[in-house]
Parts: sequence; structure tokens; C-alpha cells
Amino acid sequence: MGFGVKFWGVRGSIAVPSPQHVKYGGNTSCVQVFAGNRMFVLDAGTGIRSLGAEFLRNDIREVNLLLTHTHWDHINGFPFFAPAYNPKWTVHIRAGHLAGNGTIHEVLSNQMNHPMFPVPLEAMRANLVMEDFVAGESFDLYPDVHIRTTPLNHPNNATAYRIEYAGKAICYVTDTEHVPGKIDERIIALVEGADMMIYDSTYTEGEFPTKIGWGHSTWNEGVRLCRAAGVKRLAIFHHEPDHDDAFMEKLEAEARAEWPGAFAARDAMTVMVDD
Ligand SMILES: [Zn+2]
Ligand SMILES: [Zn+2]
Repeated sequence: MGFGVKFWGVRGSIAVPSPQHVKYGGNTSCVQVFAGNRMFVLDAGTGIRSLGAEFLRNDIREVNLLLTHTHWDHINGFPFFAPAYNPKWTVHIRAGHLAGNGTIHEVLSNQMNHPMFPVPLEAMRANLVMEDFVAGESFDLYPDVHIRTTPLNHPNNATAYRIEYAGKAICYVTDTEHVPGKIDERIIALVEGADMMIYDSTYTEGEFPTKIGWGHSTWNEGVRLCRAAGVKRLAIFHHEPDHDDAFMEKLEAEARAEWPGAFAARDAMTVMVDD
């Protein structure tokens, strides 16, 4: 099966199903990472619903959900993740951003409480194993898969992940705000030499100055990080909902002209790093 990703949701903030958002997709953040037959899911935005249906078709039975944080666009697909209701499944869920402000179990449970949602977390019959860690920690989920993390600059905190398998590395760095002219050394240390970095590219450089404090970055900063850290490919990710297909085509062309390793992530796109 190799080592790679499939994008199931690439938007930030809110899902945007519309005729102007077909090519790049309208679902919020969800990325499947396959490392051999090990399955990882980065975030549980609206894209996770379709991924869950595919998992059930393929009878995988064990998956690791790694959450960057718990803003709506990263967790509100979770109540629609069908494997979580199947008693034959084990779903490991990890989050590193809460740092003592409650637990991931509490947050996911609260999201499904009355009167916001009719089905409580307890209705999920899978073996749900939830674990909080502190962003910055590393862990081995399997003998052949190593995970490193680092905290990001985001309101209510967020965690970036580096997944290493078979001598390759895929990094997921969203949501985060950069400081213009000052490269984030924590991100550099995390993504050093990686084969791909998926990066929060919500705003253009033109939009960024009016969005200081909102917790997001630009593809240009993603390119700067990739160049500084020797990363091979940049997946432009967490697209602003107002950036429709026409806008994204132009943005992607500009990014590729600046750095050929850049591409804009789209729903249903698969990218391998071991070919
Ligand atoms: Zn987000
Ligand atoms: Zn966020």
C-alpha cells in the first residue's frame, strides 16, 4: 500500500458545497495517511464522513485519529464517522492541544450533547481509546511508525504532526499563524527534510495583514518553510471558503511558478511519497 495521503477535506472554517467549489472541494479538514496497512486520519472535519464509508467497505477495523485541535472545522464530522459506531472497530483518538483545559473525551462528548446533537457519544459502539498528550511529545504507535509533534500558534492552541514510516516523513501543519519576517523555528525543527508538508495556507499575502490574530498563514510562508527545512513538496491546504475554484486555480499557478514543489490539495486527491 506504500506511504501517502488522500485528502478528504481541504477547507478551513466551514464547509462550502457549491457549484463554484467543485474542483478543489468543499469539505473541511480531513486527511487520510496510509503507512503500509496502518491507517491514520488527521482531523475529523466534514470530509471524514466519506472516509468512514470507505473504511467500512474495506473492513480495516483499526484507525488512529490524530487531532490538531477542536475547532468545529476539525471535529464536526466526527459524529458522522460510521466506524465509530461499529463494535468490530478500534478507534484511537489523540489530541495534544488541551494542555489541562479538559480532555479530548470531554470535548468530543460535549459536541454530541443535547440540544446540539441527538446521538450521544455513548452510542458509539467501537472500542474508542482517547488519549491526551502535550504538544511537543513524540510517540511510537507501531514499531515501524514514529510520530513527532509540536505546538502551533493558534487561538485555543493546535498541534502539528510528523509521521515517519519507511525512511520517509509526512507533516501536517495546520492551523497556525506566522510572524512576518520571522520563521517559526519549532516548525522548521519538525518538518526538517520531510517528503511532504501539508500547510495552513488560508490567506493570500494580500489578505494576511487584515487577519492578524485569526491564527492562519499563507502559501508563501509554506514555501519559505519548505526551502529553509529542505522539504520536498508543499500541499497548500485549509483553503479559505471564499476562495472558489477560479481563485484557487490562479493561486495554485502562482505558487507553482514560485516553487515547483507546491500544489493545492483537493478533495479525493491521493499523493504518494514513496514513488
Ligand atoms: Zn481550521
Ligand atoms: Zn482552528
